[in-house]
Amino acid sequence: MEAAAGEYGEPGNLAGVRHIILVLSGKGGVGKSTISTELALALRHQGKKVGILDVDLCGPSIPRMLGSQGKAVHQCDQGWVPVFVDQEQSISLMSVGFLLENPDEAVVWKGPKKNALIKQFVSDVAWGQLDFLVVDTPPGTSDEHMATMEALRPYRPLGALVITTPQAVSVGDVRRELTFCRKTGLQVIGVVENMSGFVCPHCAECTNVFSRGGGEELAQLAGVPFLGSVPLDPELTRSLEEGRDFMQEFPKSSAFPALT
Ligand code: ADP
Repeated sequence: MEAAAGEYGEPGNLAGVRHIILVLSGKGGVGKSTISTELALALRHQGKKVGILDVDLCGPSIPRMLGSQGKAVHQCDQGWVPVFVDQEQSISLMSVGFLLENPDEAVVWKGPKKNALIKQFVSDVAWGQLDFLVVDTPPGTSDEHMATMEALRPYRPLGALVITTPQAVSVGDVRRELTFCRKTGLQVIGVVENMSGFVCPHCAECTNVFSRGGGEELAQLAGVPFLGSVPLDPELTRSLEEGRDFMQEFPKSSAFPALT
């Protein structure tokens, strides 16, 4: 979402950021980090500069998905320099994963410590000029969401991208997520249904592993845009595990059209 000139304050480090998108999901494992990662890659392929802020403090999976595990965050006069994922420096990433000595270490922090880190992420990361800042949030509607929104909202209007899988239980969680957005005044950009069928790589037939269409129905009922369905794609899983650019390697995959 872009701020009208003069409407919002300008903290030094967010001054060059044009749009901020929060990626939300009702529960874990539905592909929120996957969609955040692929969204950033898709925007990069459109020539945009993208930052990713990973505030999923207890499950920071984006460094691995972007092949940046083990890279270090440096300090500059403006604060932390995010990790550049590619040589062209078109995707920058900040994650608690870079601050842990051991990437497998569990973050066992109470709320105030998590909230303090989120505030620091918002104020102290030197993003430079970005077309989009994609914020990968934890599942559900936790204190971390409130802390993220409270920290970001004074400076930019925020848009929410809500990820669900097609099953009724996930859709039910997303209904709560949409209520959260309404109550907190977060504008919903749209709903994405992930793991929406499995397209056989041999015969191209689509099997609806978890049923289909729940996300679209929910979006219609809630009166928010439905943005598309992303099928389960084994190549996508593999690319994410190996930190490779799925968009570049598999432009003919069944998941590609929805992701772009
Ligand atoms: P969340 O962030 O919601 O907890 P993740 O993005 O970490 O979920 O996804 C969970 C797992 O599912 C990951 O291993 C990821 O690679 C895989 N995954 C997610 N979406 C897809 C998809 N459309 N096709 C194949 N694998 C997927």
